[in-house]
Amino acid sequence: MGTNAIFVKAVDKSDQRPGTWHRVQTVQVGTHLEGINVYAYCPDCGRRCGLHSTHGRSHAIRGDGVVHPSMICPHAGCDYHEFVTLDGWTHGSLPMHDGET
Ligand SMILES: [Zn+2]
Repeated sequence: MGTNAIFVKAVDKSDQRPGTWHRVQTVQVGTHLEGINVYAYCPDCGRRCGLHSTHGRSHAIRGDGVVHPSMICPHAGCDYHEFVTLDGWTHGSLPMHDGET
């Protein structure tokens, strides 16, 4: 930890290269499921990590793509932990949600 990792935008849904990010927008289903999820593929273990979710504890993403707080890979056996910036982020500022409301 100590560097600022730059994640690149995934080319499409099949692009699962480590070090890429992608955004998924879910539509309203039933009562209320509309939301935005942002994922990143861990540069170390290659597995998918949730970075931001409209419904649940997550990270904030600034308009310039800077993620806060730092990304800690949640997968067992991986100790990836870096400050992360999402290159090509054009989706504005997303606040953190604590999932309590
Ligand atoms: Zn990992």
